[in-house]
Amino acid sequence: MLKDPSRFRSIATTLIQRIVALAFVCLLVMSGVQGFLEYQQTQQRADVAVQDIADNSLPMLSLSLWDIEPESIQRQVNWLASLPEIGHVRVQASTGQWFEAGDPERAKTSPDRRMPINAPQGGKAVGELDLWLNPGYLLMNTLIRTINMVAGYVLFTAILCLAVAWMLKRQLQQPLQQIARFAVELKPQELSKPLLLTRPERRHVDEIDLVTDGFRQLQGDLRSHIGNLDNMVAERTQQLEKLIEEVHRLSITDALTGCFNRRVIEERLPSEIERARRYGRPLSVIFTDIDLFKQINDERGHAAGDVVLREVASRLLAQLRTQVDWVARYGGEEFLIVLPESDLEMASRAAERLRETIEGQPVLSEGITLHITASFGVAQCAPDEGMADLLSRADAMLYHAKAEGRNRVMVSG
Ligand code: GH3
Ligand code: MG
Ligand code: MG
Repeated sequence: MLKDPSRFRSIATTLIQRIVALAFVCLLVMSGVQGFLEYQQTQQRADVAVQDIADNSLPMLSLSLWDIEPESIQRQVNWLASLPEIGHVRVQASTGQWFEAGDPERAKTSPDRRMPINAPQGGKAVGELDLWLNPGYLLMNTLIRTINMVAGYVLFTAILCLAVAWMLKRQLQQPLQQIARFAVELKPQELSKPLLLTRPERRHVDEIDLVTDGFRQLQGDLRSHIGNLDNMVAERTQQLEKLIEEVHRLSITDALTGCFNRRVIEERLPSEIERARRYGRPLSVIFTDIDLFKQINDERGHAAGDVVLREVASRLLAQLRTQVDWVARYGGEEFLIVLPESDLEMASRAAERLRETIEGQPVLSEGITLHITASFGVAQCAPDEGMADLLSRADAMLYHAKAEGRNRVMVSG
């Protein structure tokens, strides 16, 4: 099932979001680790710096304490306290005097560094120097270094994400969108339209190429499948048309004789009469009935009767002008011959010809010669006469022919 298209989000966007989230987590971890390391390094640097300060200041302090110069001592203490690394300074003379400067709050804790001040010529100590480090300086230093590092990392990550986003868009999003658009717009009748992607030159084949190749192959397979289906449909349609033609032929044909059946008389004769009337053309019909046919059936068997029926029908068909005249089995051994474009005289001559043809040559059935004859009733369609009346007049003439002794043509005058 298709998902809601309004909830669409590009795969490139999702990937970038994940990368940014991952980079943020890495940033947090890195900031913590880097902050800790920076703090330690800053402390070490401060220790070294304090040691240097102390090493440089101790000889001066030693002289000032030896010469008992309180002002000079206080000046040096003040100078030491003004250094950024130092939070508080205290010099304690062995005489009991002390000098201090800086943050008195710091002095409540024990000093970070305690150094004896030896006499200038060596020997016993003349005092003691206590130093407290400046925690604000350490923190600030750590913070500035960490922020610098993090800012660099953020900049690097942002540039990296932009580069990755650009590559994803070019390498993945654009070709995938082109494939999707092509698939949506592709119509069954345009299957040969090629899938063309605008992609930069590459030395290697990648997944997009595999999808594209698969899509082209699918198009080719579908095309040949549809072609096969078209051929199959055309073949089946042809078979069906032949079958329909055959069914229609069977529905209008008498199975035994191959003439039209009675249904055709009902369907076709009224329109023939109507056409003749409209164009003022003549139309005649001939009713014919095999003489004493029951006798053939009774004496020679039903199969012989069928042979006679088939033979008579084929002689009738052979004698007719096939394009316009037609013959139908009316029932039993009775046939109706319809002669459009024939007046009564032409029809009478045709009936006489048919009678002679039937009488002229005996029918052979299983080695037995059967002499047959038939009687004929002829009528021409009068103006405004319907099918029933016309057939009734022709039938009356046939009856008359039978009554007159059979094997003859009687014409409705
Ligand atoms: P008539 O000269 O007066 O026409 O005499 P008829 O014997 O031909 O007349 P009738 O109508 O009495 O006989 C028709 C016979 O035709 C009766 C029936 O058994 C036979 N018949 C009808 N249809 C067929 C058929 O399809 N095959 C065969 N073999 N006989 C049929
Ligand atoms: Mg008969
Ligand atoms: Mg009959």
